[in-house]
Order: sequence, then C-alpha cells, then structure tokens
Amino acid sequence: MNAPSRVRKASADFRWDEVELLAYKPEGSAPFRDITRQVLFTGEGLACELRYFEIGAGGHSTLERHEHAHAVMVLRGRGACLVGDAVRALAERDLVTIPAFAWHQFRASEGGPLGFLCMVNAERDRPQLPTEADLAALRRDPKLAAFIRV
Ligand code: MN
Repeated sequence: MNAPSRVRKASADFRWDEVELLAYKPEGSAPFRDITRQVLFTGEGLACELRYFEIGAGGHSTLERHEHAHAVMVLRGRGACLVGDAVRALAERDLVTIPAFAWHQFRASEGGPLGFLCMVNAERDRPQLPTEADLAALRRDPKLAAFIRV
C-alpha cells in the first residue's frame, strides 16, 4: 500500500509539526554532550530514514563506528567532524559521507549549535564504541588526539 502524501510544516527554529524532539541516545549508554534528535522521515515506503541532529555549542556526538553508512548535510551553524583519519571543519550546507566502519564524531563550535541532516538505512547495525586499544591507535595521530572527546 502506498504511504499517504503529507506536508508537515516547519514550525519554529529547526522544528517541524508532528516531529518530536528526542534524546540523541539514552543517557549513560554512550559518551556524548548536548544533542537532540528529530526523526523527519521513517517508513513512508522508504528503505532509509532522515534525521535531524542538533549539537549545542561546544557539545559533541559519540565517537563510534558501524557497518551502515551515513550521508550528512549541515543545515545550521559550524563545527568539525572526525571521519576515519581526518578532522575537517564544517559549515552550513557542507556534505559529509561516512563510509562503513569509519570512526566518526561531530562537534559544534563554541559559538553556537551545529545542526545536520543524517540519512541512514532503516535496517542497520548497532554502533560500536572504541575500546581502549582503538582509542590508543586513534590517538597516535595528534590531530585526532586533540579532537576526540570520550
Ligand atoms: Mn554513526
């Protein structure tokens, strides 16, 4: 059966009608700081989901990896991301590809929030957190060592 068409209006600053403001992850399940999650599209005949994450000024997402890929578009603010062995600055409308099993972490600038769309497969594996050995390997690169928050 075809999913019905619908329009949910943007209601306020990076909020939408009928879209709930959710916790990024259950508190204590993984290291992160000051992030919200909104699921914009799920189901509706699609094999992917589109989420909007917003990281508060100075906050960060979890350092993690998994088999599923992410496709990210920055919608709001500035920040930086670690993907694989690189740390890159991010600004509005930048596009970030996160391949399978690449370590990744996002950070907002100190000056304001970083908001981004993230597309994922609806059916996906659970994120893996770094072991102490993984962290030690990543931290051999001074750029990564300075960026990582756990
Ligand atoms: Mn991820």
